[in-house]
Amino acid sequence: MSSTQCLIIGAGPAGLSAAIYTARAGMSTLVLGGNPKVYGDYDIDNYFGFEQTISGRELIERGRRQAARFGADIREEKVLGVHHGEDGGFSVKTDKGQYRACSIILAAGVSRSRPKIPGIEAYEGKGVSYCVSCDGFFIRNKPVVVAGEGVFAANQALELLNYTPDVTICTLGKEPSYPADFAARLEHAGIKTLTSPVTALSGNPGLESAALADGTVLPAQGLFIALGEASSTDFAYTLGVTRKGNFIEVDPEMKTSVEGVFAAGDCTGGFLQIAVAVGEGALAGKSAITWLKEKCPAK
Ligand SMILES: Cc1cc2nc3c(=O)[nH]c(=O)nc-3n(C[C@H](O)[C@H](O)[C@H](O)COP(=O)(O)OP(=O)(O)OC[C@H]3O[C@@H](n4cnc5c(N)ncnc54)[C@H](O)[C@@H]3O)c2cc1C
Repeated sequence: MSSTQCLIIGAGPAGLSAAIYTARAGMSTLVLGGNPKVYGDYDIDNYFGFEQTISGRELIERGRRQAARFGADIREEKVLGVHHGEDGGFSVKTDKGQYRACSIILAAGVSRSRPKIPGIEAYEGKGVSYCVSCDGFFIRNKPVVVAGEGVFAANQALELLNYTPDVTICTLGKEPSYPADFAARLEHAGIKTLTSPVTALSGNPGLESAALADGTVLPAQGLFIALGEASSTDFAYTLGVTRKGNFIEVDPEMKTSVEGVFAAGDCTGGFLQIAVAVGEGALAGKSAITWLKEKCPAK
């Protein structure tokens, strides 16, 4: 497993800005993430220093090249989970491998929204959960459903096997998009994937079943939401970082409530703009540098 001083989750304006600072200060820096939502032919007209508009794509590509010039290692990988390591650092699992890091900067943008399942709000905290590591314990040996279609959902379903053997994935009408190795692991574990949308949840006071559009009724005392990619708040949950609603709480230096974990950009809420994300990335980078120099200097 390879190690780095600073691991940044997110390759958008916040993550790349943080990487420019940490890499330029000589910290080994690994950035994991794909194209941010703004990466496209969108005209960015309000970012400082561009007299003419610049496209989101061009701005991000310039940021990537700049961070790489200082030695940041930028990889297109999806982070599936982040946990505290046994040696005091952090362990990061992706769709392609596993890393160890002394510090983490969360910069994965805004969190996923709630899926359109009728009545889902009423069951949040009563069976509906967004975090396997937090709530898996409560559904030991009970039937559970994971809602999602990608590698994140597959990974959550496999993690749930630590708590219960009865796991089903519902893709909510989408086609499953797991990589072949995950599909094989699901099959081996006997985890079925159903594609029909969930039309109703029932149970009183807690969740007991989920009804699908094709007439299937699945016993379900847990419904774990794992749409798209794991989000900053998913990582915050598992690390024990304090949140404020869907966002991560930070102090003015972009430190979270957990030592060695920083956050920047849209995931911290506020004014969701490139200029703010870049500024917060710089602050998070600076704080990480100070922390690393004391706690995890380069060997
Ligand atoms: C279409 C559009 C147009 C916009 N136009 C403007 C504008 O004109 N001016 C302006 O100031 N702002 C604009 N914004 C807002 C601006 O893009 C955001 O505020 C800014 O990009 C936030 O930066 P960020 O780095 O915090 O997050 P993001 O840019 O959202 O980047 C998040 C990063 O995290 C990665 N990520 C997410 N989950 C995972 C995971 N599980 N594993 C690994 N990586 C992950 C993503 O791949 C991405 O690299 C626009 C936004 C959009 C969508």
